[in-house]
Amino acid sequence: MLIFKKVADLQSWIAHERAGGRSIGFAPTMGALHDGHMELIRLSRRDGHRSVASIFVNPTQFNDLKDLEKYPRTPEKDIALLHDTGCDALFMPSVEEVYPQGQELTISLDFRQLDEVMEGVYRPGHFIGMATVVHRLLDIVRPQSLYMGQKDFQQLTIVRDMIRQIQMPIELVMCPTVREPDGLAMSSRNMRLSPEMRAVAPVIYQTLGWARTAMQHQPASVIQEEAMVRLRQAGLRPEYFDIVDGISLLPVEHWEESDFIVACTAAFAGEVRLIDNLVFKNF
Ligand code: AMP
Repeated sequence: MLIFKKVADLQSWIAHERAGGRSIGFAPTMGALHDGHMELIRLSRRDGHRSVASIFVNPTQFNDLKDLEKYPRTPEKDIALLHDTGCDALFMPSVEEVYPQGQELTISLDFRQLDEVMEGVYRPGHFIGMATVVHRLLDIVRPQSLYMGQKDFQQLTIVRDMIRQIQMPIELVMCPTVREPDGLAMSSRNMRLSPEMRAVAPVIYQTLGWARTAMQHQPASVIQEEAMVRLRQAGLRPEYFDIVDGISLLPVEHWEESDFIVACTAAFAGEVRLIDNLVFKNF
């Protein structure tokens, strides 16, 4: 696996690969990698691309500076995992390389309600920062396909909207959430869970599963309230449990109302904020 720190070096390798008839599949990450991230690389390779991953802890998407400082960094382990999974190239730029001084790169797109609901309520500014860095990285890499995890469903929905708005010639591939055997969605934050909270955290996935069955007989508003109660009773501190349309992220009250229904939730397990979601129905 090749490792690049400079935009120019990465781009000259990509140009060489393209000249040889290869396509590029790209998976942006913030490092502290686990098997969930490797799924993006596996799918990119399955689709026949040269697979490019990036590791960049993007300062502009953290609304809490402490969160940025606490973000786990495990570069040696990340490099070994990517290498073993067959990643072709890793881009590990500095902040200056991504945001050259004097250039205004912040995107000014209107995501309507997409960045205002759910995570948008609790992490103001997060999605503009996220969309800005994804836009910048896409501009550098110019992949045919972009691989992102369903785990961050709202993020993926906003990136889909950005690609549509700017008419970027990029296919967005939604990669299924990789879970621990007990159902907990893999996340770099899981390593910060206390043993007690690690034992409780699978309740999030169990509650999502319960809600999917319940939705076939009851209105979503009733289920959402009951789900919040279940999460609290387990010892978690849920922020939201919303059942929404998978494209507009607007609330869905009844099963027949939409062809694409997703439940999304965020809950604190001790000091660690976890997010998860489950697709109830997809066309
Ligand atoms: P992150 O490094 O947390 O920003 O995540 C980078 C990419 O990996 C995003 O597209 C995430 O949605 C994806 N990802 C993170 N965790 C998982 C998981 N458990 N399963 C599948 N994809 C994941």
